[in-house]
Amino acid sequence: MWQSVYQAESIEIDSLTKVLSREGFNRKAAKIIHSEETGVYVLLYFNVVSFKTINSIFGITGANRFLLAVAGHLSQAPFLPKIIGRTEADHFVCIVRKENLRRDLLDDFCKMPYTEKGRTVHVLLNCGIYEITDKDIPITAMCDRARTALHFIHNSGSKFYAEYDEKAENSYRDETEVLGEIDNAIEREQFVPYYQPIVDCQTGKIVSAEALARWIHPEKGIISPSVFIPVLEKKDMISNLDRIIARRVHAMIKSCLSAGQSIVPVSVNLSRMDLYDHSMMNDLYATLQESSHDQKWHRYEITESAYEDISANTLSTISALRRHGASILVDDFGSGFSSLGMITDYEFDIIKLDVRFARKIVGSDRVFGVVQSLTDMAHKLGAKVIAEGVENEAQMKAVRDCGCDYIQGYYYYSPLPEKQFLALLDAQ
Ligand code: C2E
Ligand code: MG
Ligand code: MG
Repeated sequence: MWQSVYQAESIEIDSLTKVLSREGFNRKAAKIIHSEETGVYVLLYFNVVSFKTINSIFGITGANRFLLAVAGHLSQAPFLPKIIGRTEADHFVCIVRKENLRRDLLDDFCKMPYTEKGRTVHVLLNCGIYEITDKDIPITAMCDRARTALHFIHNSGSKFYAEYDEKAENSYRDETEVLGEIDNAIEREQFVPYYQPIVDCQTGKIVSAEALARWIHPEKGIISPSVFIPVLEKKDMISNLDRIIARRVHAMIKSCLSAGQSIVPVSVNLSRMDLYDHSMMNDLYATLQESSHDQKWHRYEITESAYEDISANTLSTISALRRHGASILVDDFGSGFSSLGMITDYEFDIIKLDVRFARKIVGSDRVFGVVQSLTDMAHKLGAKVIAEGVENEAQMKAVRDCGCDYIQGYYYYSPLPEKQFLALLDAQ
């Protein structure tokens, strides 16, 4: 009898930190939450930022002492935890009464100074918060919810905690799902460019096109860039996509030219991250040098805001691309605050007016005036202007009357698969 009580206790206590073990926490948390005591509880999930580094600085026994200190830090927390547990490695959980959780103290609490052998390091904790609104789910599911919230903390900021909410969880799930499939998708060549024709304002003839990435998913169908681009950017994988699109466009142009088929200049989008990636920029340049055809068929779109922190190295690659005959387009022009600065400081050939201008131009003298002035200014600098996002006749007429040179928008064409796009060019 005594032995079994003793055994149960030892399973429920974490031998290293002396707080509750996962089993102990689950049992005691359930008891507290389902007790007759009224009140709302909150589950906090703590994780040590860069625990791996701490491990390598202090070694295993040092890191163990550190974990003991984290448990001590939690036990003296201003939010007065009812119970504390350690679920694994550097992950701690607490149950707290809602009224005791002062969020304004939490950021400071998450900055934990720790001294080992005379050396003080400032360790950061991250805290995911789940307010227990649904008492009927298992404690482990509550822990998962609080843990999910951790994904919404950006340690470059000054906020070290985040709350769980269902919407955030769904977006995280989508993101994880996309991420889980993306390597495979790249390998299986499921990313392809669609081509949106750009027409001359006066004649309505197709004069160029923009390559826009689409993910052709075997089960989900066509997935748009708004789903996969943010994920690729966050995971530093956007250059892989841009390389694929640039390569496909290059191959299409090459094959059209050698077959004597009609083709127009095609632009590819360069992400801001490509501009920091020297190997990506070098690859672009190398493709251009190896290419046997004229570079006038190749265009590169750089979003306006990316010019803010462009390096000298990247600028020289951009100049080289232009010297070889490729054009540089400023994408989303007028969407940020840097428009005038960038227009005076950098070289480019075409400005693409952000969609918001086409959206607001009809019936607004003010917007009409702005578009007219921007177009004049671009022309004075020797650049052409494309109005993006033109969806109806009224918008088409307005941008044409402002002096814009070209139009890209659903009013004329949506992005098309390669075959359809080439057939369209052939027919014109
Ligand atoms: P963007 O470069 O400004 O491309 C124009 C976007 O406007 C495209 O959306 C296009 O389909 C859409 N669009 C065209 N005409 C109209 C219109 O009349 N009305 C409206 N409302 N929209 C119109 P899409 O294809 O969803 O691409 C969104 C963004 O994703 C692009 O904006 C670009 O920033 C990015 N993107 C697309 N493909 C690539 C790629 O291969 N690499 C990189 N780095 N970014 C890409
Ligand atoms: Mg673009
Ligand atoms: Mg654009």
